[in-house]
Amino acid sequence: MPLLRSWKCTETGCYKHIAPLGLRRNGAPAQEILTPLLGGVGMGKAPVVSIVPLNRNLNKEEKIWQYLEDVYDPEIPVLSVVDLGVVRNVQLQDDKVLVTITPTYSGCPAMNTIATEIRLKLLGEGFKEVAVDTQLSPAWTTDWLSEAGKEKLEAYGIAPPVEPTGNVNALFGKDVTVRCPLCKSENTKLISQFGSTSCKALYQCQECLEPFDYFKCLK
Ligand SMILES: [Zn+2]
Repeated sequence: MPLLRSWKCTETGCYKHIAPLGLRRNGAPAQEILTPLLGGVGMGKAPVVSIVPLNRNLNKEEKIWQYLEDVYDPEIPVLSVVDLGVVRNVQLQDDKVLVTITPTYSGCPAMNTIATEIRLKLLGEGFKEVAVDTQLSPAWTTDWLSEAGKEKLEAYGIAPPVEPTGNVNALFGKDVTVRCPLCKSENTKLISQFGSTSCKALYQCQECLEPFDYFKCLK
C-alpha cells in the first residue's frame, strides 16, 4: 500500500498508516487508521496515533497529577488527595502551577495542611511557583472519592460510603447497609453518628464485634 502515509505512534513507538486525503472518496474520517503495521492490534492496548502535535503542557500537567498521588490526606493517610477527589484542577503556565482544591466540607481543618503538602511536594519536584486555590462550589461529595480510594479505605478499616449521595438518612448513617471492613459481614449496627472525625460515623459489627468508622455520604 504505497499510497498510505506513515505515522509513528507516540505511545508505543510503532508505525501506523493512514490514507492521504486523495484516497478517501468514501467519506472516511481524515484520521482513520487503515493498517496498523506493527503492534496495536491484539496487543491488549488500543493504538494511539497523534496527528496533532503533542501539547507539552498537557504532559507536564499529567505529571503533576501523578505527583499529587503522593500527597496524602492527613486524616486518612492511605488516601491521596487525588483518591479523595479534592483536587479539581491543575494548570501550568510557564513554570507556575495552579492547583485548585475543594475542601471535603467547609471549615475542614485538614485543608490547610493539604494545601501546604501540595505546595511542598511540587516545589520539591522542581516547580518554581506553586499556588493552591480553594474552590467551594460545587461542593465536594463522597461521589468524588475514586474507586481506588474506596478500596483503600476499606483495606484501612474504614467502611466506604455506600449510598448515592443526597439521601438524608445516608447523611446520618441510618438505614444504609454498611459492610464490616474486617469480616465483610453486613450485620452491622450504628453506634454513634460521629466517629473519630465528624465526617465519619461509628459502627459495630455484630459478627466479629469490631467497632469501625464508616465514611458517611456527604452532599
Ligand atoms: Zn466484622
